[in-house]
Amino acid sequence: MKRYSAFAIAREALRGHIGWERAWRSPEPKAQYDVVIVGAGGHGLATAYYLGKNFGITNVAVLEKGWLGGGNTGRNTTIIRSNYLQDPSAAIYEKARSLYETLSQELNYNIMFSPRGVLMLAQTEHEVRGYRRTAHANSLQGVKTEFVSPDRVKELCPIISLEGPRYPVLGALWQARAGTARHDAVAWGYARACSDMGMDIIQKCEVTGIRTEGGKVSGVTTTRGDIGCGKLGIVVAGHSGVVAEMAGFRLPIESVALQALVSEPIKPCMDVVVMANTVHGYMSQSDKGEMVIGGGADGFNNYTQRGSFHHVEETVRALVETFPIISRLKMLRQWGGIVDMTGDRSPIISKTPVENCFINCGWGTGGFKAIPGSGWAMAELMAKGASPLADGFEMHRFREGRFVDESVAAGVAH
Ligand SMILES: Cc1cc2nc3c(=O)[nH]c(=O)nc-3n(C[C@H](O)[C@H](O)[C@H](O)COP(=O)(O)OP(=O)(O)OC[C@H]3O[C@@H](n4cnc5c(N)ncnc54)[C@H](O)[C@@H]3O)c2cc1C
Repeated sequence: MKRYSAFAIAREALRGHIGWERAWRSPEPKAQYDVVIVGAGGHGLATAYYLGKNFGITNVAVLEKGWLGGGNTGRNTTIIRSNYLQDPSAAIYEKARSLYETLSQELNYNIMFSPRGVLMLAQTEHEVRGYRRTAHANSLQGVKTEFVSPDRVKELCPIISLEGPRYPVLGALWQARAGTARHDAVAWGYARACSDMGMDIIQKCEVTGIRTEGGKVSGVTTTRGDIGCGKLGIVVAGHSGVVAEMAGFRLPIESVALQALVSEPIKPCMDVVVMANTVHGYMSQSDKGEMVIGGGADGFNNYTQRGSFHHVEETVRALVETFPIISRLKMLRQWGGIVDMTGDRSPIISKTPVENCFINCGWGTGGFKAIPGSGWAMAELMAKGASPLADGFEMHRFREGRFVDESVAAGVAH
């Protein structure tokens, strides 16, 4: 595949853009692959990419029922951070964050990583204690974060109101190299690199059944015919329970809608990401100038990829009290995605009861930031049978009560 470069842009500009190739091929499915990945979201594509790059496994198909990146990967608010409390979480999220730093160069695709810094506001004494504790844990884990004063918060984000009507800002957990990236570009960049390695990315191909022989996976049934495989990776986020059922096992996952919205574009007014977990809203400004706003998860299980009005109202109310200057902004768009929540708010990267069938799910409201690290770990697990980054995230932890408990520490884990 031809490399993208400043020279290529200039050349194509001069000749009417007739020389661009398709970013990835659209092949017909083959009868058999060494590895099939179900789900062409960021995690599925990153798994395929690192299988090829780190282990030389390229006879791989990624099957997607819709279009690639059309699930949660293309619906999130793109926050990237690694300031988690527990050691296994900090390890995988920091691995992901550090891979994001150079992902554009590695994939030769501009994923627009913007390490603008993330502030997580402490608005109660409990949050102050919690975030100080996380900052201490992070320094032991080698993750660079600090607890900053209200004055420093105001310096970093001048549009914030420190004296909220309900909760004053008492400080914040600050991660300077956290930030955002362009979500579609992450999926597109991985897809292009996978296609370049000879892998088949097959869109509009829904997996409807999983075939096994003697307890071992042998292939999948799809809307485009049967496809055999040596190993299978299930990476379908909100639909994990549905696909696991096809393989005959159950998951401790609940699927709920999580939603977000964006405002009309305005002049640059904020160059950090702010998360206000007590009042519950978070916001950043996109390159186009829109304020990107994340809300809460529905309180009931469902598979509808849309939002509900009461969340919009609650989220906007929370943000208006945190940033009074946005009170007269018009909201342009609102959408939802189906997130896969575990009880401890940590992911599952695991073998399953079916031999050679692996699962990666449970990233819930916060898996965009993890894509490169998760793909790295899942590829290693699938290729070698174990991965240090996946240690602790096995399915059996729920049976044994060995949780990686981020539910209280993360509060809202975007
Ligand atoms: C509104 C919102 C805001 C968010 N904000 C953030 C954030 O700021 N930061 C952050 O880190 N995370 C955030 N997240 C979470 C993040 O988006 C997800 O954790 C992450 O994108 C999951 O990626 P994935 O590849 O596992 O899943 P997805 O991108 O959902 O990909 C799974 C794919 O599997 C496909 N699929 C399902 N069933 C089948 C089948 N039977 N056959 C074939 N294909 C199938 C789906 O069509 C889908 O494309 C947010 C999520 C939402 C919804």
